[in-house]
Amino acid sequence: MTASDAELSALSAQPACIRCAHALHGADVIRYLCRVCESRTQAHLADLPDLYVQLHEMLEPGAPRAGSASRGTRHGAASPAPCNLEVLNLVAPGGRYSVLWSWTADWRDLLDPDTQQPRNTGRNRCNTPISRAVTFLRDKLSWAVEKHPAVDDFAAEVQRLWQEATAITNPRIRLGYCPATHDDGTACGAVLRATPGATAVSCDWCNTTWSERHLIRLAQVLQPAA
Ligand SMILES: [Zn+2]
Ligand SMILES: [Zn+2]
Repeated sequence: MTASDAELSALSAQPACIRCAHALHGADVIRYLCRVCESRTQAHLADLPDLYVQLHEMLEPGAPRAGSASRGTRHGAASPAPCNLEVLNLVAPGGRYSVLWSWTADWRDLLDPDTQQPRNTGRNRCNTPISRAVTFLRDKLSWAVEKHPAVDDFAAEVQRLWQEATAITNPRIRLGYCPATHDDGTACGAVLRATPGATAVSCDWCNTTWSERHLIRLAQVLQPAA
């Protein structure tokens, strides 16, 4: 979504998704996020527990080093693979995954202000299983979409965490910019990535998917990513 789309939406006082600025209509005008942004956030959340397990497995002795497959072409074959500090940065106590516990505490306080459960906001808050935190956030996302004015920040942080985790566990190559167009005619423009050997390409942002028989058409319209 471009700045001009957001400006036009504001000028017309048309209720819009606070994350992607798509116009909201009918019963959706009470929402902070459009349905596409909500379903994308749900999908990212659903992946996070498995990604967390995979990242932990990479920390075990003898496990492949993070990013070794994706960095070879950027650093050259002679360069040493990055150490698993990238993984630690995500899953260590206080690491990037901790945003999930922060949001869980925030949402619990807003939903249940009178029955304040003892909040574990210290460095050991990761004692709560990741799967339980994610289950809570997924269960309450529809509430947040309508009631939490910072739900766009939540969606952005979840997407960033998902991108950082998948960049390590499932390194993909950059193809170019997504040529799909939204209902209002604007181009998606997100960076398209593909897993080497995959027979389909899917945009992480707009969910448009090109199956094997449509890949040639995609290649003809792709602009290379910077
Ligand atoms: Zn949206
Ligand atoms: Zn797209």
